[in-house]
Amino acid sequence: MPTLVTGGAGYIGSATVDLLVDQNEPVVVLDDMSEGHYDAVNPEARLYEGSIGNSALVRSIVETHGIDACIHFAARTNVGDSVVEPGRYYANNVGEGLSLLNTLTAAGVKQIVFSSTCATYGEPVRIPMDEDHPQHPQSPYGWSKFFMERMLEDFDRAYGTRFVGLRYFNAAGATERRGEDHQPETHLIPLVLFAALGKREGISVFGSDYGTHDGSCVRDYVHISDLAAAHWRALGYLRKGGKSDFFNLGTGRGQSVLEVIEAARRVSGREIRVKMEARRPGDASYLVANAEKAGDVLDWEPGYLEIEQTIASAWKWHLAHPNGYAR
Ligand code: UDP
Repeated sequence: MPTLVTGGAGYIGSATVDLLVDQNEPVVVLDDMSEGHYDAVNPEARLYEGSIGNSALVRSIVETHGIDACIHFAARTNVGDSVVEPGRYYANNVGEGLSLLNTLTAAGVKQIVFSSTCATYGEPVRIPMDEDHPQHPQSPYGWSKFFMERMLEDFDRAYGTRFVGLRYFNAAGATERRGEDHQPETHLIPLVLFAALGKREGISVFGSDYGTHDGSCVRDYVHISDLAAAHWRALGYLRKGGKSDFFNLGTGRGQSVLEVIEAARRVSGREIRVKMEARRPGDASYLVANAEKAGDVLDWEPGYLEIEQTIASAWKWHLAHPNGYAR
């Protein structure tokens, strides 16, 4: 039966749709195209343009296609913006997310793979972070995902909805077909590569006084091909009757902002100018995954472990798409 992929025109969603199509899975995409790209949607997938909060549309898609599972990516995903515009984040991610859950439940769709985030953890009390690490988000974005996680648990208890909540660490890299193209771009790796391409003067480092080895924030950059594979495995797990659960997705390795810039210099062979700036509100100092549970239960292992490999894949995509998707 077909799987509904919300946000299938976005960065991680589009790579996941490709992988599902490659596995001969029928896929229906629902995306409001506010941040998605038409050129990112696999032509084998049927695209519906609309909001996850549009119950009539969601109901009709489920009935028309006989949907029995949903991979729910569609959300606002920017930590910094969420601090400035919390209302928008809660309306989109929580308000419309709840509407989607209600509509799917009423229509009998009770298998959900949900895009969650390491931002639900907040400042680490132990590292690397496992799934039982306390959750104290530091941004409205993190809270919006945290609230969705709690709703999924309640839906499981009340309605028997089974879910896999995938807590991504920092999605990065590109596949042959899909890459990162946000408008405006705020993420570290694409911005560093824009600097290497000469599209920007340099890169700002937000904070050099964190309690990390070089003072800049440390993140665990996980490749979108590996994330896509995890969604495929999560779907298989739910179909086999797996119980609802949360899984970290990361490499288990941390890179500081300065190390990412250094790696991008090596990969691109270009100079990248650096400007030290103040901390960005909402940022945790150190987010590195313990993803052993995804290995044990979902049989998932990341293939991209070296930051150079991940950055090299992104560099290749940006060289081939200097203006992103068809703009
Ligand atoms: N960052 C930075 N300069 C930038 C963009 C990001 O120093 O121009 C830092 C940011 O403060 C964070 C890390 O890079 O510590 C990763 O940020 P990104 O926005 O890529 O992902 P996030 O961790 O917010 O999901």
